[in-house]
Amino acid sequence: SSTVAIIGGGQAGSEVATLLRQNRYEGEIVLIGDEDHLPYLRPPLSKAFLAGEIDADALIYKGAPAYERANVVLKLGVRVDDIDRGAKRLKLNDGEALSYDKLVIATGGGARQLPVPGSKLSNIFYLRKISDVDALRPHLKPGRRLVVVGGGYVGLEVAAVAAKQGVHVTVLEGAPRVLARVTAPELSQFYERVHREAGVDIRTGVSVSGFAAGPDEGSVGAVLCADGEPVAADFVLIGIGLSPNTDLAERAGLVVDGGVVVDDHSRTNDPDIYAIGDCSTHAHHGFLERKIRLESVPNALEQARAVAASITGRDIPTAAAPWFWSDQYDLKLQMVGLSDGYDTLVLRGSPESRSFIAFYLKGGQVIAADSVNRLGDFMAAKRLVGDKSHVAPDQLADETVPLKTLIA
Ligand code: FAD
Repeated sequence: SSTVAIIGGGQAGSEVATLLRQNRYEGEIVLIGDEDHLPYLRPPLSKAFLAGEIDADALIYKGAPAYERANVVLKLGVRVDDIDRGAKRLKLNDGEALSYDKLVIATGGGARQLPVPGSKLSNIFYLRKISDVDALRPHLKPGRRLVVVGGGYVGLEVAAVAAKQGVHVTVLEGAPRVLARVTAPELSQFYERVHREAGVDIRTGVSVSGFAAGPDEGSVGAVLCADGEPVAADFVLIGIGLSPNTDLAERAGLVVDGGVVVDDHSRTNDPDIYAIGDCSTHAHHGFLERKIRLESVPNALEQARAVAASITGRDIPTAAAPWFWSDQYDLKLQMVGLSDGYDTLVLRGSPESRSFIAFYLKGGQVIAADSVNRLGDFMAAKRLVGDKSHVAPDQLADETVPLKTLIA
């Protein structure tokens, strides 16, 4: 019989494994993951799990019985060291070889490292895995000083959790504003203000040049800035993005451009090899003007559905516009679409009320929206963006016009 091998036991890999069986794939399905855990949810790592509100069991995506029912062979704690495309065979680090008919690369990525002097001092943390949180959490104690390097989602979520626990938090961001890569200045200003109100010291335009040891030799004591005073720290969290795990694909001669390049079937330049989730670069079914790498759970699941359909000869399900969420304090941020190149920003509701939605328009079309504490409006916004709707800005802004009446 035939075999689908899946490299990487994250949400993307897990989803494709069970979906294949749901789509009545009859061959063998083998999921190989180098972490020792069953595939788990990463989003809570910087939210409820870091805060200690849920335990590790609550992170598990699907329990063991789900894989048994789907007859998926799990090889956990095992790494794939090499893909031999000619022989259609994987080399595993437990000494075994595994032949495949179709291969899915779902290798995700690792936290991007900051290669500056002193970066090997202790009490400097990254956040990508359960073990990273286990190392970081004991430091969250009232009065301790945390410096967060990077004002992206992960850095800001950690800042929010730490501030709530009485930690003195400073965030150092290199760009002129936080969340600069993903939102409009209005949203960045809003989040900077909320953090400052919670006691977080947000400093933008700061370039970190190194780390100095504290009185306790070997352990970090200060963060050095290229043009400014050092910032004292008892511990540091670096959240500066992700390095995709593309080395296996690259060595196998697949096309890699910031991620493994795939089409709308999530297929690479080898028709028998797919790539999904954080390690892949794609145009998301025409929703993006260029191929980019998306780091989000909805994207990982969407691509998994495409692969499972493609391998089982079904139609590729209609894709939704890419979306994402982030939780900080009492604020639920949900974002849909990509705002690249917008010409008009429309606010519905006011940031002061901590409940509003920002629409991004380009040539009259709603291309993206960022919603803060507006769950109902966000559902409508997803439709507007997904349908590539053209809506007049004054209608979007007018709270007396229900958003759902604007859906074509
Ligand atoms: P991963 O989850 O990285 O899984 C890949 C797996 O493959 C890993 O276990 C890796 O160890 C393994 N692997 C790699 N190479 C090999 C190999 N050679 N052999 C065997 N195994 C290998 N997304 C949201 O949508 N909303 C959020 O709020 C959100 N918050 C986040 C917060 C944090 C702290 C982090 C880290 C991520 C967050 N994300 C969020 C992003 C989201 O978690 C990812 O987009 C999603 O987990 C991608 O899953 P994946 O399966 O592609 O990759």
